[in-house]
Amino acid sequence: MRILYVEDEKFLADAVIHVLDKNGIAVEWVADGEDGLELALKPIYDAIVLDVMLPKMSGFDILRRVREKGVKTPIIMLSALSQAEDKIRGLDYGADDYLAKPFKTAELVARLRALARRPVLQDEKLLCFGDLYYDLENRSLNDIPLTEKEALLMETLLRNPDRAQNKDYLLHHIWGSDNFGDGNYVEVYISYLRKKLQKLKSSVEIKTIRNLGYKLVNKAE
Ligand code: CA
Repeated sequence: MRILYVEDEKFLADAVIHVLDKNGIAVEWVADGEDGLELALKPIYDAIVLDVMLPKMSGFDILRRVREKGVKTPIIMLSALSQAEDKIRGLDYGADDYLAKPFKTAELVARLRALARRPVLQDEKLLCFGDLYYDLENRSLNDIPLTEKEALLMETLLRNPDRAQNKDYLLHHIWGSDNFGDGNYVEVYISYLRKKLQKLKSSVEIKTIRNLGYKLVNKAE
């Protein structure tokens, strides 16, 4: 499990990260709202823990912007203002849970585990797998633009993460029936995509399954 934690109080962050780490939860920590928003927009985390009072941009503003962009990563809000109003506001903006400060870290771990058990269905604008997110509108992979054929190939692999995609099927599906039999196209474009995955330092690779085709595999799992 991998989470984003946006918190400006360093001593608190250190203590929380220590306990989460012991529970096998990897944490990416940032201390201000702007950095928090930038990372929160990447749908690569299993959950986001978001403080409300932050420098540069509040947790509520981050939450609102993230949901507007269609990113549906589960979010737990943390607030020292333990007023009912704050809680309602957070839930209205699309937070999944709310924890009043001070809280017991064990409680946070339990809530994160509960959220992680729910499947995250990101917006239909995005296809996600491992640390990859593909934007269907811009045809970009983790914000890197793909060419038309690369995009179609990546999209097919992302839509079928559990099944190997047969080379002939990919050729027919992406290049059309005129090119039937020339599997080189597929091999060449698979190699282009592999280079892009390497460039992104992604934990995902395209595996060749003998006699079956190609499949995405997440090495981080
Ligand atoms: Ca704060």
